[in-house]
Amino acid sequence: MMGGSAAGAEPGTALDQIPVDRLKRVGPKMLERLARLQITSVQDLLFHLPLRYQDRTRLRALDGLTAGEEVLIEGVVRDAQIAMGRRRSLKVWIGDDSGGALLLRFFYFSRAQSESLKPGRRLRCFGEVRQGPQSLEMVHPEVQQHFDADAVAVGEALTPIYPSTEGLQQISWRALTDQALRLLDDHPEGLTDWVPEPVVGPLRLPPLADALRTVHRPPPDAPVQALTERTHPAFLRLAFEEMLAHQLALRRMRGRRRGLRAPALDAGGGLRERFLSALAFTLTAAQRRVVDEIAADLARPVPTMRLLQGDVGSGKTVVGALAALQAVEAGFQVALMAPTELLAEQHLRSLRGWLEPLGVEVLWLSGRHKGAERAEIVAAIGAGRVQIVVGTHALFQDDVRFAALGLAIIDEQHRFGVHQRIRLRDKGERNGETPHQLIMTATPIPRSLAMAVYADLDLSVIDSLPPGRRPITTAAVPDARRDEVIARVRDACACGRQAYWVCTLVEESDALQAQAAEDTARDLAAHLGDLRIGLVHGRIKPAEREPVMAAFAAGELDLLVATTVIEVGVDVPNASLMIVENPERLGLAQLHQLRGRVGRGTLDSYCLLLYRAPLTAAARERLNILRTEHSGFAIADADLRMRGAGEVLGTRQAGVAQFRLADPLRDQSLVAAAQQAADRILEQWPEHVAPLVRRWLAGREDYGRA
Ligand code: ADP
Ligand code: MG
Repeated sequence: MMGGSAAGAEPGTALDQIPVDRLKRVGPKMLERLARLQITSVQDLLFHLPLRYQDRTRLRALDGLTAGEEVLIEGVVRDAQIAMGRRRSLKVWIGDDSGGALLLRFFYFSRAQSESLKPGRRLRCFGEVRQGPQSLEMVHPEVQQHFDADAVAVGEALTPIYPSTEGLQQISWRALTDQALRLLDDHPEGLTDWVPEPVVGPLRLPPLADALRTVHRPPPDAPVQALTERTHPAFLRLAFEEMLAHQLALRRMRGRRRGLRAPALDAGGGLRERFLSALAFTLTAAQRRVVDEIAADLARPVPTMRLLQGDVGSGKTVVGALAALQAVEAGFQVALMAPTELLAEQHLRSLRGWLEPLGVEVLWLSGRHKGAERAEIVAAIGAGRVQIVVGTHALFQDDVRFAALGLAIIDEQHRFGVHQRIRLRDKGERNGETPHQLIMTATPIPRSLAMAVYADLDLSVIDSLPPGRRPITTAAVPDARRDEVIARVRDACACGRQAYWVCTLVEESDALQAQAAEDTARDLAAHLGDLRIGLVHGRIKPAEREPVMAAFAAGELDLLVATTVIEVGVDVPNASLMIVENPERLGLAQLHQLRGRVGRGTLDSYCLLLYRAPLTAAARERLNILRTEHSGFAIADADLRMRGAGEVLGTRQAGVAQFRLADPLRDQSLVAAAQQAADRILEQWPEHVAPLVRRWLAGREDYGRA
């Protein structure tokens, strides 16, 4: 007798062979929604893991809450009123014995509700704590008015919350995973553990099936903290397997890439030698090392896919220029792509200054080239008359065809998507050969982490700055001392220095950013009438922006007021003072990038973070890190620790692995174990590779094509 299990599976049927529509509640609509998440079998459901848990097992005191938490609280109504404002709302203030208080806010409420939430009433609420304009608040919490005051959710376990898609409620996920777990209990043989005992044994982690049960349905006595922080052995077991699957997939991708062909850029180095001897400085040891790594790659008939990492100001451009020359010497063209026109213009200036004396033609193509001018540039590229083309996204347009693209250099890779990289690769394909790719980024990631997350990229790191650089003195100054800061700018400029004033706004809107910058420029001009002030922001046309940048670079302007458009790459060594307004709104890595616009020469440089008081504890800590740390690597490390890898790397970033539950930073000890395990499995159990990759990465397009 089969025990009437939901799917009526025969003993011995593998769970990955049982389609999800054999489960109750799964009709055609549901099937389609599940397929959107790549879930087609019962096994896929088991590996659809909770994103997090709601903790309804503990009652939290009101004085210990922080924004962003989902908590269960209890308190007595102190006051309640209907606020009319822009949007009618019911505001209810509650307090508890801890002395803490919280504002509950309802935008939709019935008369009965508003009448029942009277002062003196005791409530139990569950919801997310948010930072409101005046205090912490909870918007539309679940409210219970009648509850057993002694029993705090006795016997209740953590409630799993699953990643979902439109039209799929949490309650459905629980019903589905219930059935899948029941099938697993009835047919333990239906789930093969593809990680052999000799590999996983020494790690002392629970068996796969136990780990899945715990993670989907934590038992009431399970340690809440370890589960919510995902340090519980059940999580570690699954995280290990996920990282292992990624490692196996990465190795497979590398293998495939080795099967592709690229032009071997191995012509003699005469041009590069002439370039180096004309250069105003000598390369640092770190630059020489990465130049050699890249040169060796490019000389091989296999497409290079290398990430060049180096802190802001470490001198990546000259390394890129040498790689470009190597391609030019071999008779190929080079595309250099920058994320903004401003940066493309600057690269154009640097490259022309360096390369035109050597007889190498450099052109640029941007969105502003139109009509006949554009057609002429596109024709020159197609006919192979130009050797190096600098540009923005405009280089991706369909009518841009290269005669012989040998190398694509992408600066600040995180702004380009994986699709664009692939398009570029396809664009350059010729006679079955694909161009080499070199990606330059100032987002520093610890090497161990980089190996785990960068899909199939090789890594070169410039780990020291050119000589003579001084650390930038950084201070946080409250907005109340704005006048002093303005005086500081006046003094610096009086001594012949130059300064940046950076306006930031959280809003993504170009128009609002531009407005803020214009207002600030006007205000500063009123205070600093004797200074020559320039303004750049995203709304000013490049044709008008370029002369401003050029004037600043030439020392004809004292102060440049700007939005974060100047974030990357701008290089004016005489600028030694930077003011950043509202730094609390930016991420650490971005602030570090911004600050890198000063300290590029041998002058003592300063960065003043002009913040709006009061700061949250987290913002204070971030500004502190910036004050005390100077290395981009240390800052990235801190940023990762505070925000998690997903946030820092960007969720859909090109070439970065997306993990479901592993966090290569938190689980660093597992990274090495997963790498070793991948080696062993490839060698001793190669037939396990495909099922492991399928189990964790089924349908992941980036792994298929990248
Ligand atoms: P980033 O890595 O941030 O792109 P850049 O390539 O813009 O840095 O270089 C920053 C500045 O340092 C530039 O003015 C560049 O010419 C200069 N530079 C690069 N390498 C050296 C070096 N080895 N010695 C002195 N200055 C250098
Ligand atoms: Mg740069």
